[in-house]
Amino acid sequence: MSSWTSGVVNGGVSFWYADDGLPVVREPLGGDASADVVIVGGGYTGLWTAYYLKQAAPFLRITVLEQKFCGYGASGRNGGWLYNGIAGRDRYAKLHGRDAAVRLQRAMNETVDEVIRVVEAEGFDADVHQGGVLEVARTPAQLARLRAFHEAELAFGEKDRELYGARETAERIRVADAVGSVWTPHGAALHPVKLVKGLAAAVERLGVAVHEATPVTEIGQGRAVTPYGTVRAPYVLRCTEGFTAALKGQRRTWLPMNSSMIVTEPLSERQWEQIGWAGRQTLGDMAHAYMYAQRTADGRIALGGRGVPYRFGSRTDNDGSTQAATVAALREVLVGFFPSLAGVRVEHAWSGVLGVPRDWCASVSLDRSSGLGWAGGYVGSGVATANLAARTLCDLVQQASGQGGSTELTALPWVGHRVRRWEPEPLRWLGVQGMYAVYRAADRREAVTHSVGSSRLARVADRVAGRG
Ligand SMILES: Cc1cc2nc3c(=O)[nH]c(=O)nc-3n(C[C@H](O)[C@H](O)[C@H](O)COP(=O)(O)OP(=O)(O)OC[C@H]3O[C@@H](n4cnc5c(N)ncnc54)[C@H](O)[C@@H]3O)c2cc1C
Repeated sequence: MSSWTSGVVNGGVSFWYADDGLPVVREPLGGDASADVVIVGGGYTGLWTAYYLKQAAPFLRITVLEQKFCGYGASGRNGGWLYNGIAGRDRYAKLHGRDAAVRLQRAMNETVDEVIRVVEAEGFDADVHQGGVLEVARTPAQLARLRAFHEAELAFGEKDRELYGARETAERIRVADAVGSVWTPHGAALHPVKLVKGLAAAVERLGVAVHEATPVTEIGQGRAVTPYGTVRAPYVLRCTEGFTAALKGQRRTWLPMNSSMIVTEPLSERQWEQIGWAGRQTLGDMAHAYMYAQRTADGRIALGGRGVPYRFGSRTDNDGSTQAATVAALREVLVGFFPSLAGVRVEHAWSGVLGVPRDWCASVSLDRSSGLGWAGGYVGSGVATANLAARTLCDLVQQASGQGGSTELTALPWVGHRVRRWEPEPLRWLGVQGMYAVYRAADRREAVTHSVGSSRLARVADRVAGRG
């Protein structure tokens, strides 16, 4: 182990908790209970759903059951990109037509504003900075993908998406070898834990019963079963994202994929002068094994990417600790982007799980006959999407219970989407490991050959993974 890795805090759920403090865990469920709606999972999806349901129908008795504490999952560990990307838009365009996908995209753009609106109205104090999203290209092949991406976005009606050359990119941020970038205003950087803590407190204030340290072992029609009792309710909503595979009967529903992050020590004024990045845009790239980063409110860089992507048998979590090799790989990405940070100290590293459906499409559903609902499969884009999903689940419950009709949200193309399950092991493990090995190889090849076309390797991996 090299000297710089020895002082790195690894795990502890995430840096965001080290920064803001781990919460005092709320009381677990005290025995059998009943409710109008029971929500399994206290991340953004579950909490936003409780929030909007209570706003729409204050009389509803709503219970949230969370296995550890609210924000224990990806909602307390993410990169803090609140942005308008949604997993599966292109596939939804193929399945339901371009207009339907354009409506979905518009709804995502509005969702970024909606989250910011509630954060301000409720006083969450989540370090939100609306600097937009900047994605850079660093090789000719990445530039070709960037241009194609920009064209595709314009065709989707995203007229405010801007394309920058090398010089305009450098005026915003000095990334080594950057040859171009695209920017959209529909994005903000935020502190994930401050958001989830604020949301949990707001939901409680509205009268929702939130039970933590309460794992649900089984979800069935009209019930959520825990070791401490069963909560019965006509509507049971599964909001467990990357942890879904641990629930009875759900092993092959969504694959739990790891994403890992590192955060630096606060950078000096001089270091920031060298880098620029005064606009605090969230930063990504066009590599196949892509990175994502934000400049935090206290002047650090938090940067993530794929580490060991998937653990055999859908094992998910170890309180966020990640492999030393992943930490080293992410640091390499950081220094590759910003060579002036070669001596910077990485303070904290962690990982979390994403939910990945077989066709990589996020979805939201409520089965009216059983009252069972769910939302997720956001892959890596859930900070904003969870809010749209929650508002949609709220409308679906209102509709099913006769309190409301169909709405713009219930008519979006991701509602009620079904997809086949993942393959059993060992095929699942082999497939995902292979896919990421191929993506990394494709990135290396594109960097070395300077070819303009995307590596054929990556296209093959896309097809095998079900993304193509
Ligand atoms: C490292 C990382 C970086 C990311 N960066 C970004 C980003 O910058 N931008 C972006 O848009 N998205 C990002 N994502 C994805 C985003 O964080 C998630 O999509 C989003 O937080 C999902 O919210 P959720 O509530 O659906 O799931 P989670 O936040 O995972 O919440 C699920 C909750 O359910 C609980 N739970 C699970 N099983 C049970 C059970 N059986 N009983 C009771 N409770 C249970 C869990 O403890 C957890 O609290 C990132 C994810 C990771 C891991």
